[in-house]
Amino acid sequence: MRPVIPVVGPAVPWDRWVWGPIGADEAPAVRRWNNPLIRSRLQGDEVAEKIPLVDYLVLGSNPHLVANECTSCGARFFDRRNACASCGKIEFKKVDVPTAGEVRAFTIVSFAAPGVPVPYVAALVDCGGTSVRGNLINVEPDPDHVTLGMPVQLATQVIGTDESGTEAIGFGFEPRGG
Ligand SMILES: [Zn+2]
Repeated sequence: MRPVIPVVGPAVPWDRWVWGPIGADEAPAVRRWNNPLIRSRLQGDEVAEKIPLVDYLVLGSNPHLVANECTSCGARFFDRRNACASCGKIEFKKVDVPTAGEVRAFTIVSFAAPGVPVPYVAALVDCGGTSVRGNLINVEPDPDHVTLGMPVQLATQVIGTDESGTEAIGFGFEPRGG
């Protein structure tokens, strides 16, 4: 009998992560502990000044995304998987995703939760064959400036800063060559 393996593990979604001061209360500390970057700080390692909002964003001089690629069928996932959603195998390897891409689909979001600035452009970007969901940034959020097939490139932006000055860095895509 085949063992039953959950496709998605118990990792905490990035939007549940807490960026407040460490030790402010109990429950969020558990969530922080589940974030390897913050856990590193709790364990007394060198404090990073910039940390990625999602763990598949690699910062540094050449920011890029890293996907988990199924070694059996080549399917790529950005979240951690115990098994491939495409073929069910359980072996993955890390692969760098090209930073240049083309907009395959987009929608201009006009209504959002309170505090989220609108309008903004949510897009599906093809980066060398890997589909990436991200917002378009540094572009006017209207149909005159956003088109299907437009060339874009990965760009990072500061999402928030905690009390110690550590910046949370998110990513989006901006027009390429413009
Ligand atoms: Zn697979």
